Amino acid sequence: MSAHIEPFNINHHELPADGLYLDGELTESIFTFRDKDNIQFIAPLYYELEITRSQNDLEIAANLQATFDFDCVRCLKKSRITITLENSQLCEPVQGHQTDITPFIAEEILLNFPENPKCEHADTKTECSWDTNYAHQEEDEESIKSEKNPWKDLEDMVTTSSQEQEKS
Ligand SMILES: [Zn+2]
Repeated sequence: MSAHIEPFNINHHELPADGLYLDGELTESIFTFRDKDNIQFIAPLYYELEITRSQNDLEIAANLQATFDFDCVRCLKKSRITITLENSQLCEPVQGHQTDITPFIAEEILLNFPENPKCEHADTKTECSWDTNYAHQEEDEESIKSEKNPWKDLEDMVTTSSQEQEKS
């Protein structure tokens, strides 16, 4: 019990036979995003981990929760999303004396992050305002075209044969 084990950096030799339970909050980001994704980790990351060793693997049962700010890919509005994972099962091969499970924890969370995050994915679901406006605008343009088409009268006057040519 005296063995000190750094969170997420698992020393295989110090792993108790009946497994290791870790829980806590992590305030530093373990995530890497591309700048253009405009995604920000909002501390903390909550974790509950049960780590056991079986033969050549580390088996990890994880409860995880992390919050992010993101820009909707459709309307660019900033929204907040919380990813909650319950009883995720990770299995990583044991190599050497220590395994840093940080990247596996990060990956597990990001796998559950929407690929193209939009307003509808946010904790407080909203509709993209831009999308609604755009749809209305398109409708208006359509109706204006059909109502005030300056060529409409001219088309009506052309002969049947040339109309068929246009269609083909
Ligand atoms: Zn949006």
